[in-house]
Amino acid sequence: METGTGKIKKLHESLQNKEFSCEELTQKYIKAIEADNAALNAYVHTTHEAALQTARKVDAKIARGEQLDLLEGIPMTLKDNISTKGIETTCGSKMLENYRPVFDATVWELLQNRNAVLLGKTNMDEFAMGSSSETSVYGGSWNPHNTDYVAGGSSGGVASAVAGNLAVYGLGTDTGGSIRQPASFCGIVGLKPTYGAVSRYGVVAYASSFDQVGPIATSVEDIALVHDALAKYDPKDSTSRSTEGSAYNALPKDIKGMKIGFAKQYFNGVREEVKQAVEKSMQVYQDLGAELVELDLPQLSYSLPVYYILSCAEASSNLGRFDGIRYGYKTQHYNDVNEMVAKTRSEGFGDEVKRRILLGTYVLSAGYYDAYYKKAQSLRGVLIEAFKSAFERCDVIVAPTVPMTAFERNKAAQSAVETYQTDICTVPVNIAGLPALSVPCGFDQKGLPIGLQLIGNSFCEATLLNAAYQFEQATRETVFRAAKTGVQL
Ligand code: GLN
Repeated sequence: METGTGKIKKLHESLQNKEFSCEELTQKYIKAIEADNAALNAYVHTTHEAALQTARKVDAKIARGEQLDLLEGIPMTLKDNISTKGIETTCGSKMLENYRPVFDATVWELLQNRNAVLLGKTNMDEFAMGSSSETSVYGGSWNPHNTDYVAGGSSGGVASAVAGNLAVYGLGTDTGGSIRQPASFCGIVGLKPTYGAVSRYGVVAYASSFDQVGPIATSVEDIALVHDALAKYDPKDSTSRSTEGSAYNALPKDIKGMKIGFAKQYFNGVREEVKQAVEKSMQVYQDLGAELVELDLPQLSYSLPVYYILSCAEASSNLGRFDGIRYGYKTQHYNDVNEMVAKTRSEGFGDEVKRRILLGTYVLSAGYYDAYYKKAQSLRGVLIEAFKSAFERCDVIVAPTVPMTAFERNKAAQSAVETYQTDICTVPVNIAGLPALSVPCGFDQKGLPIGLQLIGNSFCEATLLNAAYQFEQATRETVFRAAKTGVQL
């Protein structure tokens, strides 16, 4: 299939045709990271020696005349909450300073089996809680389009590295928007797959009933290739499901007659420039022969409280394991075990994580459980039903990814609640477990990218990526700008 926007396939062909070696390609990325990472703060640990070793292995295969897998030898990165055996996995937290897992996450195992070249681990908000990556103990990751602005979060390091051309693609996690929002801020593509499509085994848990791993890349084609490699049933994750078919093969399909839904509730409080860009995108779909279908989704107004109540409740339980006893940070001076645990957690966690643990234990406590946790659970059911009815009338839903473009540095830290509100467009699909992606659809007056969100029905990634790909092909020249940093391919 000749598509033309992806980097992976082009690099694969160049490697296979011996235009350059995998070691040369890897060296190029290593040099770029050495030159540009200080300005972007995308990588927090680099694995250059291991990357070169894998590259030499790939070169040996090429020399033997063997056919490479498409992802083989492609330089990439992982968010720092994805467990990598023997390689630091710190979740942007002092709690996991120098922590090296003794096992690999399934997603990394799958890519390692294909000789993916891991350049390093990328920055994130502490334990994936945040929207700017500035809650990281390493400080924020910056936007390659303008470093006075953040790359977004929580997978801000992956987005900064990929948009800044310091990796071909990367894996992030999305619990409430953490793949789509940084992709939108950085003018690239990010996919949150259906809950259960990709294994969560070995991914440090934030809110287990929401967390999903997915790819961030500069084109829909590359997203589809990586997604196909990861969407596999994994017996080590009890919520994992097997999926059928290839999203990549579905990309070129004509979308004439495809039903594209939109709901006015997604546009409440959305900045004018973003609204206009999304409306223009809807026109593009019409020009491509798709049919627009108006939906009414008043239930969306419950999304933010439902997300923050349930995700904090789950986080308070998941983060209970960091107690200074088994692994991770441990306080130096204490008199008894209770003091040791309390001091370890007070010193090891940052403010945002503590805020969410407090909120989570509060909504789960006797006396408040029914009023908050239980109510939020039943509203989760209401939202799931609302999307179910919506998908009886359409194939894909369009919406803004974020109500605005990238925040200026230090803005997100000023008000936690205001920052939570910026998640309004991304959290609904995590509540409902649906797949969604962000694809570039324009720029604001400051030249910062705007993202279009596309939402699919459960396990319909093929349809979702097909719709995204057709949009990208029709608009790419005007809505995609490569950053000047990093490796220019
Ligand atoms: N910004 C959201 C939050 O702070 C998203 C986090 C995520 O998806 N990991 O919770």
